[in-house]
Amino acid sequence: MSGVAELAAQLVAIESINPDVVAGGSGEAAVAQFVAEWCERAGLETTLSEASPSRPNVVAVARGSGGGRSLMLNAHMDTVGVTGMADPFAPKIDGDRLYGRGSYDMKGSLAACMLATVEAKRRALRGDVILTAVADEEFASVGTEVVVASWRADAAVVAEPTEMQVVVAHRGFVHLEIETHGRAAHGSRPHLGIDAIAKMGHVLTGLEELDAALRSNPTHPYVGSGSVHASLIEGGQEFSSIPARCVLQAERRTIPGESVSQVEDEIRAIIGRRVSEDPEFSAGVRVLASREPFEVEVNAPIVEIVRGHVARVLGAEPDLVGVSYWADSALVAGAGIPTVLFGPRGEGAHADVEWVDVRDLERCVEIYAGAAGEICA
Ligand SMILES: [Zn+2]
Repeated sequence: MSGVAELAAQLVAIESINPDVVAGGSGEAAVAQFVAEWCERAGLETTLSEASPSRPNVVAVARGSGGGRSLMLNAHMDTVGVTGMADPFAPKIDGDRLYGRGSYDMKGSLAACMLATVEAKRRALRGDVILTAVADEEFASVGTEVVVASWRADAAVVAEPTEMQVVVAHRGFVHLEIETHGRAAHGSRPHLGIDAIAKMGHVLTGLEELDAALRSNPTHPYVGSGSVHASLIEGGQEFSSIPARCVLQAERRTIPGESVSQVEDEIRAIIGRRVSEDPEFSAGVRVLASREPFEVEVNAPIVEIVRGHVARVLGAEPDLVGVSYWADSALVAGAGIPTVLFGPRGEGAHADVEWVDVRDLERCVEIYAGAAGEICA
């Protein structure tokens, strides 16, 4: 077993289910302890600190001699749950695959980042390489939020598994709550009531039209268009009452350039159009949560440098791509650090069978270390 596969297997064996995703999950404390001790032994300047109570981050620095640019390598330590998996924490190597929960998302890449940081130290670079092993990516990303508030770098690689492609964009999201206001009345006296659920029908139709309009006009070269869909709906008490209130939760996925206030305006426009046709229509919208989309200039040094090392190691120019999921990259880039996502091939993030390609992990060590060598030279 290669060094990186061995290290990844050790990380997989330590359960670190995000307790906000699955009640009873252990969180990152044990795996963070392991990562911190490993980094300390490897001679990195290591800090273990809580991003929030019992949710630690590890930051380990291969300190440069001074005057060079710095590179951040970011990997999350938490995993999703394991329902339906056989032996999720018994890592197994079969051919080129390492099986187990978190092998692919993303303890394999975490191991590769750890080894690449040690390799950077061995090369005695001028700039710092800053490994950030973070908590809570699978839920609220408090780990990376805290890291980027106190650590700076000139560039970053978020090591999510990307099938050995260089990811330069992903979507963001806005979680919305829309409420229609009616008037309660007994079902036998309809002239006294206003049916809030029926009124929501107009909002739903408006959302469907908005979604069709967005998706018929893809404008972003890597992630196409945004979208919107209904998520949850609630209202009414019983058969014989006209409902006074209906609440819809909906999600708008956004592309780079689309803002939260623009999304709110879209919903207000749907409401406003209906108000002008129906004096009894009354509705409001509020934003419950949002995360920014991510993109990086394709000619930024971090893109060209990572791309160059991928080409060197794989023997072919990698594609620049966008991905549909959200990741911590948006927070890192949002802090003003030019960022790409790059990581190994595999399968089964959040699924019953999860594996990562261990040959890719070896290649990732070489690519991360190569990029660090060039950026921090
Ligand atoms: Zn992940």
